[in-house]
Amino acid sequence: MDQTLVSDVVQEVMRRLNGGGTKFAGPKVGEDAPANDGITRHQNAPAGDGRFGVFADVNAAVNAATDSQKKLLKLTTGERDQIVKLIKATAKEKANEWGALEFAETKIGRLDHKIAKLNLLDLVPGVEFLKTSAFTGSNGVCLEEFAPFGVIGAITPVTHSVPTLTANAINMIAAGNSLVINPHPSGSNCAATAVREYNSRIARQFGIEHLICLINPPTLESADAIFAHRGVHLLVVTGGPAVAKAAMKSPKRAIVGGPGNPPVVVDETACMKNAAESIIAGASFDNNLLCTGEKQVFVVESVYDKLVAALQTAGAVQLTGPQIKQLTDKAIPVSPKDGKPHVNKDYVGRDAKVLAEAAGVSVPPTCPLLFGETDFDHPYVQEEQMMPFIPLIRCRNVDEAIDLAIESEHGFRHTAMIHSRNLDTITRFGQRAATTIFVVNGGSPAGLSVGGEGYLSFTIATPTGEGITTPLTFTRFRRVMITNSLRMV
Ligand code: NAD
Repeated sequence: MDQTLVSDVVQEVMRRLNGGGTKFAGPKVGEDAPANDGITRHQNAPAGDGRFGVFADVNAAVNAATDSQKKLLKLTTGERDQIVKLIKATAKEKANEWGALEFAETKIGRLDHKIAKLNLLDLVPGVEFLKTSAFTGSNGVCLEEFAPFGVIGAITPVTHSVPTLTANAINMIAAGNSLVINPHPSGSNCAATAVREYNSRIARQFGIEHLICLINPPTLESADAIFAHRGVHLLVVTGGPAVAKAAMKSPKRAIVGGPGNPPVVVDETACMKNAAESIIAGASFDNNLLCTGEKQVFVVESVYDKLVAALQTAGAVQLTGPQIKQLTDKAIPVSPKDGKPHVNKDYVGRDAKVLAEAAGVSVPPTCPLLFGETDFDHPYVQEEQMMPFIPLIRCRNVDEAIDLAIESEHGFRHTAMIHSRNLDTITRFGQRAATTIFVVNGGSPAGLSVGGEGYLSFTIATPTGEGITTPLTFTRFRRVMITNSLRMV
């Protein structure tokens, strides 16, 4: 995207956020203040007034979503398809504006990639995934269909506020559901803006006002209220360890997209240029905020220097040991409370230039990624760091690389990458890692169909096993058996 255009968009959004301009119908962002529970909330965020899906109260939102879902069921599948296409077209039309809004509100990631994520939503599947199966025989006709759950409660992360809610809405509405979202408090205003726009367009064309409901301002209490509400039939949670655990304890069925810590293995047979370019593309995407993004690289000793050279040629900047230490002391410091390293949120999703400054190094603003050698126990290897610095761990051979890579993934079974031309090695790692997404000789975005094949979702259900979510994930399987009739042969 043209840099002048990008800065114009940011300036315009900032002007509107600060109260200037009259065209912007969305909420204003207020001051941020940390609440007692540690979550930052917007003090002046507009309380949901119940128009076009934005509610302050969970009960009102669930009632509205229930009513809207009943109306959705009266539409044909073709009309549902049109709603899905309307959402996708709106996300594309608003990508520049909403990408800038999300970037200004959350202050993490990269503006160009926030915009890209909204433009990619075409890759999310729709009603075409709902195929009826039929079996016929001398005893009659058996039909198997995919029916909606009803109202789905969704929790979305700050790392991709509008993209996650949009992909969830596409998948869930295609399957005949409505949804009530509790967004992350630090990304709730951009989410409310998008929800208002989607619903007002859906209402105009289809007469349904609240298919996508959102709580603003969201709190932990509103999340709990959604978890407990009798009118919510299914939970879908996208987030880190705490919320994943909370959802899995809920008595309601929960589909959980949990945390990851994706390793990369590079062996002596790999194409170093492709490996380096893929690692940079994945680990620098939105400053490594994606749960699928490359977080640590295990490289066989004999090709270590070649990979370093290829990374440098492709634009990444190497840090020395002391520079990595200086960065780590600030970005993942050891807490005096428990003596353990904790990720400092001030560095999550920040530009490589900001991390470099923390390390005492100056790099150009265009630098996509920093890297450097660490040992296996280093916090940048063990923590889900979500920053554009990637540690390289030198391994004696590919077996050691595979062992350490699997250990560093902490059993999340989320995502892993390998660069190798050896089919036995690729198979061995793939089988043992047992990750939901396994990318061979490509960057992590390919695993989400960006530069790969398949389809996209921003909710990858890992601990609960549904995988990259689709409309089918949000359906109930139903069989109709018609005995001794309707058979035409
Ligand atoms: P987060 O866990 O801080 O927050 C996620 C959501 O959960 C937010 O809406 C937050 O308000 C809510 N939340 C947090 N604790 C809660 C609790 N105890 N009860 C109810 N709600 C609670 O995560 P984040 O910083 O917004 O996002 C990054 C994390 O999400 C990373 O761990 C990343 O790997 C993960 N993630 C996973 C996927 C996936 O599909 N598997 C996709 C994106 C992000």
